[in-house]
Amino acid sequence: MRETLWYDATQIHIGGVWKAPAGGQQLPMENPSNGAEIGSIARGTAADIDAAVVAAQAALDGAWGRMTALERGRILTRIGQLVQTRLDDLALIEAMDVGKPLTQARNDAVALARYMEFYGGAADKVHGETIPYLDGYTVYTLREPHGVTGHIVPWNYPMQIIGRSVGAALAMGNACVLKPAEEACLTALAFMALAEEAGLPPGALNVVPGLGEEAGAALTAHPGVHHISFTGSVGVGKLVQAAAAQNVVPVTLELGGKSPQIVFDDADLDEALPFLVGACIQNAGQTCSASSRVLVQRGVYDEVVARMGERYGALQVGPAREDLNVGPLISARQKEIVEGFLADGDDLRLVAQGQIVDGAPEGGHYVRPTLFADVPTDHRLAQDEIFGPVQVVIPFEGEAEALRIANGTDFGLVASVWTRDGARQMRMAKAIRTGQVFINNYGAGGGVELPFGGIGKSGHGREKGFEALYGFSTLKTVAAKHG
Ligand code: NAD
Repeated sequence: MRETLWYDATQIHIGGVWKAPAGGQQLPMENPSNGAEIGSIARGTAADIDAAVVAAQAALDGAWGRMTALERGRILTRIGQLVQTRLDDLALIEAMDVGKPLTQARNDAVALARYMEFYGGAADKVHGETIPYLDGYTVYTLREPHGVTGHIVPWNYPMQIIGRSVGAALAMGNACVLKPAEEACLTALAFMALAEEAGLPPGALNVVPGLGEEAGAALTAHPGVHHISFTGSVGVGKLVQAAAAQNVVPVTLELGGKSPQIVFDDADLDEALPFLVGACIQNAGQTCSASSRVLVQRGVYDEVVARMGERYGALQVGPAREDLNVGPLISARQKEIVEGFLADGDDLRLVAQGQIVDGAPEGGHYVRPTLFADVPTDHRLAQDEIFGPVQVVIPFEGEAEALRIANGTDFGLVASVWTRDGARQMRMAKAIRTGQVFINNYGAGGGVELPFGGIGKSGHGREKGFEALYGFSTLKTVAAKHG
């Protein structure tokens, strides 16, 4: 593994300097495809977080804070170009670290480059307004950075989530402290190395790997942090919001989902079928926007279940390097959680399961992708986020029932509607309670330009697109009386 890396993954990066964590400790790093230990990462602690926040503030008070938006944008664009030169390396690193099949890992690297390109280009295009006011006044608004922004990232899509949150924050002139997930830090450190190479001034980005309850909690509680972007589970999201409340700083929470695809009788099934299955099994179902529920109108119900079942039966599961449909889950713990859900599905109609390929290493965290049908809407598998390749199909009669089921969970991240009826498309898109609705497609994983985020227990605030630039900035109103 080490030979693939062009930076020292055992270190942290603070104020432009790679160094050992203050406590001197390391955390083991596992390859989910075979369970082997492939090295270690730094165990950053509160002392490192404090140093990182101090370094970020120093950057704001120094060269980074004085830099024009144009120049910030150019640096981000350069980072994107460097990412482009490393796509295969980044894909391999992510495949080893997260267990993601190579093609999917490479797509994440491509998305990271695209985020840098998008936010690089956008950096000097966000501006305030003038406001007509009383006679003798000129009033205008200024878009300003929050200051030091904290970024807590999960293990499932490190590159994409770093791209969308750190990219937007840097574009607006914030200085960032990034705490990647302890299960998958390697591409966060790679990104840091590329940002340094691209000329990002010291302290504008600081990366401190470590445990959530240690380094993560220290970052969310730090009084020198002015905004927190958190992507992860609902439980930890609540802790993050509570900690931020103590310092009265804004938070963006990107949490989980139970995202439905709704298939009406008049849908183009040939078009829909690849998305119905693909939107769940991507990254072994470990996707916040995974479509883990498919609601199907009675007239096409049997056909859709049968055709989805055929696809499930053909799915192949195996090591990331073999680049099959589905890789391992991230950890033994995640596998145990998903197997718990499968056991709870004992009373359900099991339609089909994919196969784990012969020779898949014993120590890998593999589960068979599984499709259940006729699932009652109040069943645990129809309500809870599974975060594994497990999908449920639920029948419905008409639009009203489809909406009631779609809106009948605690979550509200993404939904899609498959129908050729234009009026129905509009009605459904309005009435579904989610942050994104797709009509005759399902694509939350892409769409760098598209604002993304949830309502309900899926979180609040928006990242991606231009909207993120507003979230990562604050508005100042200047009212000048000149007579
Ligand atoms: P997690 O909440 O356990 O961990 C996420 C991050 O939070 C990690 O970096 C972890 O170290 C850190 N953390 C843990 N405890 C902390 C604490 N007390 N204080 C501060 N930080 C802490 O989530 P996970 O298991 O890594 O990721 C899976 C979850 O993330 C799923 O629920 C998934 O839906 C969600 N997710 C959401 C999105 C989205 O955009 N909405 C994207 C990806 C993942």
